[in-house]
Order: sequence, then structure tokens, then C-alpha cells
Amino acid sequence: MERIDVRRLGREPMAFRWEEPAATLGLETEPAFRHAISVEVTARKIGAQVLVNGVASSLIRLECGRCLEAFERTVRADVAIAYREGTPPNRRVDVIGDDEPEASWYEPPFIDPGEDLRQIMLVAMPDYPVCRADCRGLCPQCGANLNLAPCGHKVEGTDGQPGRGVKVPEGEKET
Ligand SMILES: [Zn+2]
Ligand SMILES: [Zn+2]
Repeated sequence: MERIDVRRLGREPMAFRWEEPAATLGLETEPAFRHAISVEVTARKIGAQVLVNGVASSLIRLECGRCLEAFERTVRADVAIAYREGTPPNRRVDVIGDDEPEASWYEPPFIDPGEDLRQIMLVAMPDYPVCRADCRGLCPQCGANLNLAPCGHKVEGTDGQPGRGVKVPEGEKET
């Protein structure tokens, strides 16, 4: 677990870069997190606050919402946290607007951003992942994965969320 030594910080941003195993962030029970989380941030101390900014990313395993196949994709999340000295009212990170840094707390002299990074990565998970934009999904009649081969069923529109009708599978013609 990487920690940021606040005693070394000044007003000029200091760069930090490390790889965090999913287990040390408490993400090992999340099936999506099989790879390390890369963290690239700068930290600087301004008055009573330590501002930590940058990006966290990881190759994440997801299940396609249309065809249900597993796939992996790099998910990147912005990190913008304003740390204050002391103990927090509770450990929750408030997710506010994009420009507002999240508020968090540290006990001197080290900032341990693990819990904040964990929550940032969880929030960054896509709600409705699709393996690719033109995924054809499953046939609502027979359940065949239409990315692999047309099953021959004629489908009028869809009853699912994708909103892009599953095309009548006659020779995969482009329209
Ligand atoms: Zn898919
Ligand atoms: Zn079918």
C-alpha cells in the first residue's frame, strides 16, 4: 500500500506513480478486478489541505449487457481528492460534481489513499457495459449469441434496453 508522506509536500505538485494490487484495495472480492490498479497522481499541500489529483486505471473484467460474454476493458477514473488532517465523520467519500474534489481525511504524517481509490474505482465501473458498440446481443427467442452466427429468427425491434434493433439475419448485409 503506497502512502504519501505529507512532510515532503509543498505547494509544487509532487508526482506519485504506483501499481496497487486489487487485494490491498479490498477489491479482491469484486470479480471485475483481476489486475492491478495503476495510480498516477500528484500531491501538493496548500494551507490545511493536501490536494491529490490524477488518474487511476485498471484492466477490468466485465460482462456484456447484451450478449453476456465476458470481456476486459481498461477503466480510467479521475482522482481529485482534498485531504484534511484529522479523523473523518465517517469513511464515506461523497461523490459530487466533477469539478469538486472529494473530501477525505488523513492522520499525519501519511496519507493512505487506498479506501478513496477503492471507491473511485467502484464508481467508475460502467452501469451497462457492452463488449462493443455494435454487439448484436442474444436472440430473444432462442438465446443464441447473434455475434457468432444468425439463428434464423426474425426479430421485430427489441424488448431490451439496447434500442438498436437486432437485424434480420440474412447474410449480415450492411444497411
Ligand atoms: Zn456483447
Ligand atoms: Zn433465435
